[in-house]
Amino acid sequence: MVRKPGYLWLPFAGRIGSVTALWLSLAFRTLGTTMGECTEAISGAACLLLCTAWVACEVAQEPGPPAPAPRDPPVSTGRSTDPDTRTRVILLGTGTPIPDPRRAGPATAVVVGSRAYLVDAGPGVVRRAAEVAAAGVSALKPTGLARVFVTHLHSDHTVGLADLMLTPAVVGRSTPLQVMGPPGIADMVEHLQAAYAVDLQVRAEVEGASAGYRLQVTEVGAGTVYRDEAVTVRPIRVQHGSFQHAFGYRFEGPDRVVVVSGDTAPSDALIQACSGCDVLVHEVYCEAGLRTLPASVRAYHEAFHTSSRQLAQLAKRARPRLLVLTHLLPFGCSEAELLAELRRNYGGEVVLGEDKGVY
Ligand SMILES: [Zn+2]
Ligand SMILES: [Zn+2]
Repeated sequence: MVRKPGYLWLPFAGRIGSVTALWLSLAFRTLGTTMGECTEAISGAACLLLCTAWVACEVAQEPGPPAPAPRDPPVSTGRSTDPDTRTRVILLGTGTPIPDPRRAGPATAVVVGSRAYLVDAGPGVVRRAAEVAAAGVSALKPTGLARVFVTHLHSDHTVGLADLMLTPAVVGRSTPLQVMGPPGIADMVEHLQAAYAVDLQVRAEVEGASAGYRLQVTEVGAGTVYRDEAVTVRPIRVQHGSFQHAFGYRFEGPDRVVVVSGDTAPSDALIQACSGCDVLVHEVYCEAGLRTLPASVRAYHEAFHTSSRQLAQLAKRARPRLLVLTHLLPFGCSEAELLAELRRNYGGEVVLGEDKGVY
């Protein structure tokens, strides 16, 4: 099963040549031999041999042709292993409003071949995408970030929106950013464009007009359907406390179905949308931790979010092949306790989501 990105080992692979060179260098030093002393210290034939070895080492340290793109870890269903076409879930941010350096703001990518579909734009979204792209998932290169589905207008899910509108365009995105989201999203991006009017004007004067700065905004409703060659995406109306509009999204890729909950109290609509889906990415809080909070805070979170016990009940009915926990609210529990709390009530496959994890 997936989980930890195998590409985290990549930085070590390129060091083998360097380590070999260092070993030989130390061996030469031990013999009291340097390139300059070589011809005096040993015979011409031996020197030639050593020089050849030395040059070979130096060549080994030269940057060679780029290594082939790494294969991502296998996905959980095993139905498709072709990295060019399979549907993957890559978590870019598994956090909350709490500025935890291990967990960037909420953002999930559904990647189908060379296309990336983002759900939410929490703080850090573009840089997390760049990190995953640098490790070999080219669909997440900043210039390819051209579609985002916003679940609701809470700040932790939208603070990265200006970043997503501007940064990929600055570095060369050539197509407009498509923004799908709840009613109010059009106003939000319009205000963001107004806020960055000076930046946009100066860049346009210096760089010329670029389509990468343009936006195509769609305010979704329960009946909205997004379709392109790779996916069909359907919004799922969910209950998130006093928000009038909050959505999860169901992605139907060529080989897998992925449902992303967004922020929500337990939702029958999500159960129906999943119905045996491949991956359900769902928010969760620790029930034991919540009990330690003041009553008013408890009431807030009970109206806005889903406890581990509630998620266990929900998952039994939704029957995902893999349940991925994100937007973790431990409220003082450890993450291990939060996971154990859920597993006490749910026997299906479940993992604690991690930033840059591939599922
Ligand atoms: Zn949130
Ligand atoms: Zn929220």
